[in-house]
Amino acid sequence: MILTSSGSGAMEAGIRSVLKSSDHVMAVVAGKFGDRFAKLSESYGLKTDRLTIEWGKAVSIADLEKALNKNHTALLIQHSETSTGVLHPLQEISKWLKINHPHCLLFVDAITSIGAMPFEMDQWGIDVAVTGSQKALMLPPGLSFVSLSARAEQKLKSPKLPGFYFDLERDLEAVRKNQSSFSPSISLIMALQESLRIIFEEGLANVFARHEKLAVATRAAIPHLGLQLATESPSVACTSAFFPKGIDGKKLLETIKSKTGFRIAGAQDRWEGKVLRVSHLGFYSPFDLISCLVALGRELERAGVSAQTTRALQAFMDSYEL
Ligand SMILES: *Cc1c(COP(=O)(O)O)cnc(C)c1O
Repeated sequence: MILTSSGSGAMEAGIRSVLKSSDHVMAVVAGKFGDRFAKLSESYGLKTDRLTIEWGKAVSIADLEKALNKNHTALLIQHSETSTGVLHPLQEISKWLKINHPHCLLFVDAITSIGAMPFEMDQWGIDVAVTGSQKALMLPPGLSFVSLSARAEQKLKSPKLPGFYFDLERDLEAVRKNQSSFSPSISLIMALQESLRIIFEEGLANVFARHEKLAVATRAAIPHLGLQLATESPSVACTSAFFPKGIDGKKLLETIKSKTGFRIAGAQDRWEGKVLRVSHLGFYSPFDLISCLVALGRELERAGVSAQTTRALQAFMDSYEL
């Protein structure tokens, strides 16, 4: 189903349409988006437990073993936690869940994974998968997407949580008649047709391989700039790294933006000013990343960091096999 909302709308539609007030939710909270999923669930009055994971770390099966019990009926998780740049081992989690908690539905915020890396919803046994238009699909924000497993679809009929706009039972009926519940964002849907054409022209496997190569090469380059990679479980969506102590990261990224136009993301909350996130999600070529690394490296040098920009570029090119 295609909804007219940003990605969070699809997360909300999934919760509101599939769960009922007696459900007991466990949310993996390993960053800002995990926190958002948990808050969303809480906002519907659902009993919501949080499995809090240190920022920069991925959740493990051992963590889940300790946290989940047979009362939990839904597990909420990000595939790629964009706020920290972490990839959770979704396939492994799903496999474990099917064996140990077969009645627990798996809700996946795949907003920065679908379209950037393999995501086999049916094969992996995901019950609710959501994404948004402005990430790997390369569109402006404004569309979100939800897909349901057969068993999640069956839950649509249960008494609904309060709300009106986000109703996947109604949306699914509409889709089956080739209609939509409300006015669709026609301009974005036309743009989607074009971005999908671009994706399939490159070939999905090639798109995934390019993301993987860009991510690996960026990770190879970043440490040469005097930055420390922020996770050992990185996503292909973005590369997160710590600034050296004493550097005002927020100010440095502002300077890069005003001087060069490169908008490198900082991070929020406890990582604000301390961490940067270089995106390589969607329409990126290695040459985009190379220019970005030059802009970043030069500014770090000026800030007194022992950044070796030329070495970083060499590492990037070697890794990408340019
Ligand atoms: C971007 C993003 C979202 C959705 O944010 P919106 O602003 O509502 O589109 C949710 N989860 C993750 C992991 C994201 O990267």
